Amino acid sequence: MRGNPKRRSKRVVSFKLRPELVPQPLWGVSACKLLNGRAPWKAIRIAELSRAGHRCETCTSSSVPLFCHEQWTYDDRKAITTLTSFHIACSDCNLALHMGLAHLRGEFDKALTQLCQVNKITEEEANRLFNNARAVWKRRSEKHWRVGVVPRLLVSYPQLKVLVGLDTRRTGPARDLRFVVTGKEIVRAE
Ligand SMILES: [Zn+2]
Repeated sequence: MRGNPKRRSKRVVSFKLRPELVPQPLWGVSACKLLNGRAPWKAIRIAELSRAGHRCETCTSSSVPLFCHEQWTYDDRKAITTLTSFHIACSDCNLALHMGLAHLRGEFDKALTQLCQVNKITEEEANRLFNNARAVWKRRSEKHWRVGVVPRLLVSYPQLKVLVGLDTRRTGPARDLRFVVTGKEIVRAE
């Protein structure tokens, strides 16, 4: 028999909203940060807001501000992180997504309340969700990462090429990354 029957029968709980803590070596490595203030990022944001009908894709709130959240996956074995899509989030859902940051800003309780409401779970369960995310974050923060973008997204937004191939081993702190616009291209400044 293939697979592990015990594992197969384990119930997988999926939540509409869960904290996504960015591993420390990747802080600042985001399309928003690297393209911020420039037309190439605004173009992505406008297109994604339109796709989502100017509503939060988690709780359907249309209260502004709405954030263009980046969804990243992590291949822990290969240490590769990949930008896979964008997701429009209201400020409360955005706070819950960035719960580590909410914690630092003294808004942890607000983020926890949103986790409870959206997922229809108790505070204890929401706390457990955060603690699990924090344990994963800690493990992922101990290594360097290479950065990729799914090809489908690069077709829609070629400006995301700035992210492809970044390696935290070589780039050092992401806050030091600099990019320059040359014609239609955005390239990393040496
Ligand atoms: Zn929301």
